[in-house]
Amino acid sequence: MGSKALNKFLTENLNDLKSKGLYNVINSLEGANGAIIKIAGRELINLSSNNYLGLATHPRMMEAAIKATKEFGVGAGAVRTINGTLKIHDELEKRIAEFKHTEAAIAFQSGFNCNAGAIQAVMNKNDGILSDELNHASIIDGCRLSGAKIIRYKHNDMEDLRAKAKEARESGLYNKLMVITDGVFSMDGDVVNLPGLVKVAEEFDLITYVDDAHGSGVMGMGAGTVKHFGLSDKIDFQIGTLSKAIGVVGGYVAGSQDLIDWLKVRARPFLFSTSLTPSAAAACIEAINIMTESTELVDKVWENGRYLKENLKRLGFNIGHSETPITPCIIGDEKLTQEFSKKLIEEGVYAKSIVFPTVPLGTGRVRNMPTAAHTKEMLDNAIAIYEKVGRELGVI
Ligand SMILES: *Cc1c(COP(=O)(O)O)cnc(C)c1O
Repeated sequence: MGSKALNKFLTENLNDLKSKGLYNVINSLEGANGAIIKIAGRELINLSSNNYLGLATHPRMMEAAIKATKEFGVGAGAVRTINGTLKIHDELEKRIAEFKHTEAAIAFQSGFNCNAGAIQAVMNKNDGILSDELNHASIIDGCRLSGAKIIRYKHNDMEDLRAKAKEARESGLYNKLMVITDGVFSMDGDVVNLPGLVKVAEEFDLITYVDDAHGSGVMGMGAGTVKHFGLSDKIDFQIGTLSKAIGVVGGYVAGSQDLIDWLKVRARPFLFSTSLTPSAAAACIEAINIMTESTELVDKVWENGRYLKENLKRLGFNIGHSETPITPCIIGDEKLTQEFSKKLIEEGVYAKSIVFPTVPLGTGRVRNMPTAAHTKEMLDNAIAIYEKVGRELGVI
């Protein structure tokens, strides 16, 4: 059935991936994505989510979603510019802007969509973008869509950024220049040197763009990496996702009123794709309520992160140089990493392997993400399993 050319392409490439052990089988969860998950009838301690604050299953969030569904329905009904701006979308944007200490904010259907829309709304083929070499795939795609020249600089290396910014400025080739970075890098858990970046940006008049998908809800008492450094007035674009710590789905850009006004008439995913569901918008508002009322969940994810890191380090694992609750366990060899993750899952810890091309060759790792919803007992059980598997495979 179907095109011969397509069938040939698919068969060859799928077989190639499978023979190299690189074909990823996606597990089906039999219940909610919480601290404990159920796969194929077995309960596992889940250390793979980005549900940092445990909000994905928080009773207040679910209640807010149900209430909004009853009031506004299940779908927004249209692209917002045509017919679909519900009061609840406006309210969400107002609350995000307050929370981020910016003049305004715009909500997108995902963090990925933010990068697909916001970069190309401002940058074009006459411009240059300085991009950290470890930036997220959606940033890379967003940069490509803009048509601007992409100039990669060494990871979090402000000397290299400065040298490349200077060269770009002096070349006279570019109209506008932008620097773009993750706030928190998800595979290592390290944090951008934002004061250093801002200094370079001021020297060379760079537009500043921070994608804080892993920092929002975690850094700066929940308000993010930019707030953590006290640099809210220095960053032009603050991107965040509503799908990780916030526990729902969606993304946003926070910035000046003029920037947000421009994105609302030029960001293509905003203009040509239907907006967030009312229930998602309401649940995100409730997440902001929860985070502003108390720092309990943010404190808890940091406490759990520290506890897991301390114990894995004590056992002799290489946990890299994370500065956040993200806890990589670096194994190195790709095959061994996959074997390690497979054994962890067999023993009851759901922690997936991450290998090339997501991380450089030879730095395969199992990435652990404790959340505010994990109890100490769950973490202790996970640590004991780590020890057992680590010894069995000669990793420690
Ligand atoms: C996860 C991630 C995104 C995508 O966010 P979604 O809301 O899941 O689409 C964008 N940028 C970075 C840096 C991310 O880590």
